[in-house]
Amino acid sequence: MSFSSDTKNELCRKKPQRPCCEKAECYGMLLFGRFFNRAKISLTTESTAAARRTAQFTAQLTGAIVSSRTVLRRASHPASVVSVDDEGDRMRVLNFFGQTGKEVTLRLNRANLEDECCWSAFLRGAFLSCGTVLNPTKDYRLEFVIPHMHLCKDMLALLRELSMTLQPGTSQRRGSYVVYIKGSDRVSDLLTFLGAPNASMKVMQMKMLREVRNRINRQTNFETANLDKTASAAARQIYALQKLLDCGAGFGALPEELRNLAKLRYENPELSLRELGEKLQPPLSRSGVNHRLQRIGELAEKICRSYHAE
Ligand SMILES: [Zn+2]
Repeated sequence: MSFSSDTKNELCRKKPQRPCCEKAECYGMLLFGRFFNRAKISLTTESTAAARRTAQFTAQLTGAIVSSRTVLRRASHPASVVSVDDEGDRMRVLNFFGQTGKEVTLRLNRANLEDECCWSAFLRGAFLSCGTVLNPTKDYRLEFVIPHMHLCKDMLALLRELSMTLQPGTSQRRGSYVVYIKGSDRVSDLLTFLGAPNASMKVMQMKMLREVRNRINRQTNFETANLDKTASAAARQIYALQKLLDCGAGFGALPEELRNLAKLRYENPELSLRELGEKLQPPLSRSGVNHRLQRIGELAEKICRSYHAE
């Protein structure tokens, strides 16, 4: 399973917050499908979950009869096609979203984004329909592949309005228009905004892992075989500590006997467990350090969760 389809599955488990958001998400899905006009409403996707969700939302909201079938696009890649096959039903869907079906160019109708809450839902729909996100082990990149030029411009404007920091770019690929976001922080932020915190976390963990690996690499006398194991454990620990800082609780929320070790680990990702133990006052064995780091990880998680709940 690709990172993209995992992300889409995660998004499809999310319940829309309010009725206005369900409408906005459905609009995003249909608008960014290949066809959304009087003659044809149709969307092709490799994500079964996304296809099911589009069909379900469209039928629920507009009462139109929506058909869904599987086609073999490429030998090993079955895709789902969701379509509205009756013209009367198509008009009903288009009118529901404030379109006449006669528009010469397809544009984003902002009336369907009633409130700020709907922005996230709309972009989620667009991503489910035409988005991909690269596996963070390869690169940090999220993109929307959009069939129409004006729609591409509208998407660009929306993302720019959403946040100054996303810095979306555009390119063209095989007759389609691509709007992309690059960089670990930006991709991670957008994934969180779309409603995929797990995918977002994977991106940040991979970034952390790279950083730790680089720092360890700079220390020459380190066996490569141990490198990944050490680096991924340290990255996990540092990620948990970073979250503790980010959520506002800070290291002070940890029991006193763990604080020094937490600080030491956070500041020295390249140190082995044995080296960490030697730096403590009084010194601690390797297994003692290991045990405490595990407790720190568990506690950090718990503390952040209760902070969010408040
Ligand atoms: Zn809403």
